[in-house]
Amino acid sequence: MEYVQLNNGVKMPYLGYGVYQVTPEECERCVTDALDVGYRSIDTAQAYRNEEGVGNAVTKSGIAREELFLTTKIWISNGGYDKAKASIEQSLNKLQTSYIDLMLIHQPFNDYYGTYRAMVEAYEQGKIKAIGVSNFHPDRLVDFCKFTDVVPAVNQIETHPFHQQSDAQMYMKKYGVQHESWGPFAEGRKDLFNNPVIKAIGDKYDKTVAQAVLRFLIQKEIVVIPKSTHKERMAENFNVFDFTLTEDDMKTISQLDEKESAFFSHADPKTVEYITGLGAV
Ligand code: NAP
Repeated sequence: MEYVQLNNGVKMPYLGYGVYQVTPEECERCVTDALDVGYRSIDTAQAYRNEEGVGNAVTKSGIAREELFLTTKIWISNGGYDKAKASIEQSLNKLQTSYIDLMLIHQPFNDYYGTYRAMVEAYEQGKIKAIGVSNFHPDRLVDFCKFTDVVPAVNQIETHPFHQQSDAQMYMKKYGVQHESWGPFAEGRKDLFNNPVIKAIGDKYDKTVAQAVLRFLIQKEIVVIPKSTHKERMAENFNVFDFTLTEDDMKTISQLDEKESAFFSHADPKTVEYITGLGAV
C-alpha cells in the first residue's frame, strides 16, 4: 500500500474501498470480502445507510483498529451544529468505534459552517482524526479555506479519466487539501471499461482498464476508493502497486479529459434541488 500524509500529519492509504450503492443487507459481506482481499480503508456515509454493515464487518474481522482507516460523511439533513453533533455520535455507534479516521461534509448545502463547527469540536476531542469536505468545487473550497481555522484535510470530488479536475486539484494543492476521487471509473459511464486508449496502455503491463485507471489517478497523487460488490473485482482493483505508468502513458490518458461531469453539475440549481430533496437520514 502507498500512503499520503494529510495536512495534519494523519496517514491515509492511497487506495480504499467505497460502499455507495451497496445495500445495507449486502454491506457486511462486501466489507468482509474487501478486508480479506487486503483493503484497510473503507469509505461510507450516513446517506448510504450502511454504516452498521461496515461496523459489523470491521468488528468481526478482528483487525486491530489502528490498522484501519474509516471514512464517513455527514448528510445534508444533519446539517447545522446541533444535528451534526448528534449525528457524529450516531456514526460512531453504527461504526462501532471510538474514533473515525476521516469525516467529511458530504455536500456543500444547508448550514455546513455549523456542521463543520461540530466536526472541529469532535476533532479536538479526538473522536475524529481528520476532517474534510466533499463536492466542494474550487470557488466553495477557496472561500471555505479562507474562513476556517482548521483547513479541510481532504476534498472528495468526482474524478476519473473523463473528468480529471486538474484546476480543482491545483487549488487543493495551493491550500494543502488532499484530492480524493469519487467515481474513479465514472461508474462505468461512457463505456469506460472498454475504452480502447486505456485498454492499450493496460495491455502493455498485463493490467485491466480498471487497474490502469486506478494507477493513473494514484500517480496523479489522488486517493481512490473504487466500489465493487464482486470479490474478484475487489482483488483486481487492489492489485495496482506492482507497475508504474510512464510519462507518455500518463499524457495519453490525460488527453481523455472532457473537463465535465459524467453525472451532474453542482452549480446547476436543478442538481441542488435534486440532492437537497433526497430526504433525511
Ligand atoms: P465507481 O467506483 O466509479 O464504479 C463502480 C462501478 O464499477 C460498479 O458498477 C462496479 O460494479 C463496477 N466495477 C468496479 N470494479 C470493476 C472492475 N474491476 N471491472 C468492471 N467493473 C467494475 O463508482 P462509485 O461507487 O460511485 O464511486 C466509488 C466510491 O466513491 C463510492 O462507493 C463511494 O464510497 C464514493 N462516492 C462518493 C460520492 C460523494 O458524493 N462524496 C459520490 C459517489 C461515490 P460491481 O459492483 O457490480 O462490481
